[in-house]
Amino acid sequence: MLMEGQGVNALNHLTIGGCDSVELCEKYGTPLYVMDENLVREHCRLYKNSIDECYDGNGLVFYASKALCNLEMIRIVDSEGLGADSVSAGELYTVLKAGMSSEKICVHGNNKTDEEIEFAVKNKVGRIVVDNITELEKIDRAAKANNTKQKVLFRIKPGIDAHTHEFVMTGQIDCKFGFALETGEAREAICEALKYENIIVGGVHCHIGSQIFESEPFKEAARVLVRFMADIKAETGFEMCELNLGGGFGVTYTEKDDPIKFNKYIEEVSVVIKEECKKHSLSLPFIMMEPGRSIVGTAGTTLYKAGAIKDIPNVRRYVSVDGGMGDNPRYILYQSEYTALVANKAGDEKTEVVTLAGKCCESGDLLGENMPIQKVESGDIIAVLTTGAYNFSMASNYNRIPRPAMVMVKDGESRVIVKRETFEDLIKNDI
Ligand SMILES: *Cc1c(COP(=O)(O)O)cnc(C)c1O
Repeated sequence: MLMEGQGVNALNHLTIGGCDSVELCEKYGTPLYVMDENLVREHCRLYKNSIDECYDGNGLVFYASKALCNLEMIRIVDSEGLGADSVSAGELYTVLKAGMSSEKICVHGNNKTDEEIEFAVKNKVGRIVVDNITELEKIDRAAKANNTKQKVLFRIKPGIDAHTHEFVMTGQIDCKFGFALETGEAREAICEALKYENIIVGGVHCHIGSQIFESEPFKEAARVLVRFMADIKAETGFEMCELNLGGGFGVTYTEKDDPIKFNKYIEEVSVVIKEECKKHSLSLPFIMMEPGRSIVGTAGTTLYKAGAIKDIPNVRRYVSVDGGMGDNPRYILYQSEYTALVANKAGDEKTEVVTLAGKCCESGDLLGENMPIQKVESGDIIAVLTTGAYNFSMASNYNRIPRPAMVMVKDGESRVIVKRETFEDLIKNDI
């Protein structure tokens, strides 16, 4: 299985965005993060165009920058007409430095510090998603001090757990994010916010999870939130005009994953929003979505060099690579599954099953267990697919291993967008 944008050339090498992956390793070294620019752009367009087509363009897609945040990535999503989400001052700083205009930025976080609120308000971000009641007073104060009015959305727990087989409508009160509906907490927060002079109540937000493959949980979330907007209108006379349905759209990591096309979500959800608004005599809200993983996930591949190979008879074969949990902590965190291949034998049959291990001093430092792969020899280039999301952004310097470079490929050309860390970088803040 290869991802879109990938192929096998006459040398039997994996190509990504028209570039020979073995040549990329010779040129830039390993481990190496490779991002396919055309694929990132295509994903941005799928979302944007579907809002244009299904919802008269009355919406905005925010890229959830936590999935992969660096200057060039933000410039690319910005140039495709997307906005960006940030969940910390560091992400916000990066997004602003990339040149995105602040009205296209949405700020999140369940514990925004006073400094973060001040930084966001001062930079006139388009929206702050309020997560708890203590933030309101701080946002109002910061807005007043900066002589501005700050638009806010409210993060709601719609009571939908999308991660059970049949998603259920209970159990979500126990979550650190947002306001519960059932307890009246959400209603109280909005009524409270309406009293603040320097706060503009835009609407509501929810984010029901991640790596979700069905559209029904998103449709149910939309139903629940539109009904809530209707309840608020009936009670207070105030009509909220913005609805943000978060991210969480699933992508392919292995052959087992079968996501629907991302534009399908918007198509189906917009029908539900229109029906519900009609039923409750509400105007159609401005809609927002926040895809992260589905913009960058499959566009990323990590290339490693295989080193030590260890056979444990009747147990497993370990193939160790020159990276691991430092550049991709998702296996040690969640036992996430990936697809791997030998990039310099990409067209061969996968005849082996191996455990791919990293080089860190942790037995759990694996990239996957029981992974089907071509016959591996020491010195081969190993490609791990779908590493675009939550790899670079979750990377660490554990064992003082410098973080890999990131290369952007497009139409057979490659360019570095994040430099490889040096030993000097590792000690630069040490006194
Ligand atoms: C993480 C997150 C997203 C993005 O989720 P993906 O699964 O990467 O699409 C969007 N919105 C919020 C509030 C999030 O926390």
